[in-house]
Amino acid sequence: MNAEIIAVGSELLLGQIVNSNAQFISKNLADIGINVFYHTVAGDNEKRLRSVIETAKSRSDLLIFTGGLGPTKDDLTKETIAKVFQKDLVHDEQSLTYIMEYFVQTNREMTPNNRKQALVIKGSEVFPNENGMAPGMAFTHEKSTCVLLPGPPSEMKPMFEKYVIPFLFAKTDVQTRLYSRVLKFFGIGESVLETKLQDLIDQQSNPTIAPLASDHEVTIRLTASHHDPNEAKSLLDQTESEIMKRTSSFFYGYDLDTLENQAMSLLLQNKATLAAAESLTGGLFSKVVTDMPGSSAIFKGGVVSYSNEIKQSILGVPPSLIKEYGAVSKECAQWMASHVRSISDSDYGISFTGVAGPERQENQPVGTVFIGIASANETHTFPLKLAGTRKSIREKAVKHGFYLLNQLVKERQ
Ligand code: ATP
Ligand code: MG
Repeated sequence: MNAEIIAVGSELLLGQIVNSNAQFISKNLADIGINVFYHTVAGDNEKRLRSVIETAKSRSDLLIFTGGLGPTKDDLTKETIAKVFQKDLVHDEQSLTYIMEYFVQTNREMTPNNRKQALVIKGSEVFPNENGMAPGMAFTHEKSTCVLLPGPPSEMKPMFEKYVIPFLFAKTDVQTRLYSRVLKFFGIGESVLETKLQDLIDQQSNPTIAPLASDHEVTIRLTASHHDPNEAKSLLDQTESEIMKRTSSFFYGYDLDTLENQAMSLLLQNKATLAAAESLTGGLFSKVVTDMPGSSAIFKGGVVSYSNEIKQSILGVPPSLIKEYGAVSKECAQWMASHVRSISDSDYGISFTGVAGPERQENQPVGTVFIGIASANETHTFPLKLAGTRKSIREKAVKHGFYLLNQLVKERQ
């Protein structure tokens, strides 16, 4: 079964929104072993949409549409598909009841055009919209299967996961299922990692091995295909252990693990607290920590000591230290970490000082960063040379901070 994803909406062609629906659907189809050969975008124009549907139906078995299921005149996806496949539109009672209730609940008056949202192509399987009004649907006509989904990602994604995946499984009659595991690495570049695994990547078949670099990290997605979940797991285990033999020192977690949530669980396990003193990161580390719900249990707070005055007045960095070594120095990082730890009465203090760019500072090149991590007994400092833009240097510094903190907390466990 090969698929084509057809996004409908003039906003896409005008560049006002990005076609993230196609990306989401493609990724999910790849995960279940359905090939996607085309992404198509059509504006809200019946004639051109018709021709897109004609072409798609001649070259693809599965046509997945998103957008244009709403109540307004420019929403014409259903109507146009019905015409091409010569099908009638009928009111789906359940959807109509649901839409009417929705208006009662939200205390709004239902306008007649809203009834249009309850129209479905005759003979379709209807997918309820649990996050909006327009239902999705799917039908098969001769060799074509069409799936129609609402445009807003907040409606489309849950509908896809809950209803479309099972529909496709039933349709494709696949015996084998795909099982994925994501391995996450930090502190190693994608090309170095790939070189270490080159022979495995060259020989890969089941599981497949797909490295991907994003957000300053590298992940490897292993995907095994088997009808028996235990067999699939054992295939994944074997390949994982082969990969680990060569790269374990950079490995930090699986699937949904992140450096920051690992830091949080390590600190929670150890009933330890943390405070931050941030210069070049300007509060970014504290932001990432406090983005996590429940972070108040581990994070006491932070100081954005961006200027030397604040480094001195709040963190007590001696002017002589700055004069001798500079603010971008191992000595300053050390002082900042240990002082923020003690003024906040935390178990750990972390500090960031460095040159985010674009200009050199204190005659140090852009990307020079020092991270300090203080505990009650000792303070470690880590000099880094980071590359990239101002934004990415700051982001990388924060990731390194979490990574180093995690290493240290683990060692002390
Ligand atoms: P509604 O009932 O809200 O009108 P709809 O099914 O008719 O939904 P559209 O009117 O085409 O869908 O799009 C509604 C909104 O959904 C768009 O303004 C946009 O924010 C989002 N959207 C639509 N298509 C896509 C897409 N391909 N990728 C990402 N977002 C999209
Ligand atoms: Mg619409």
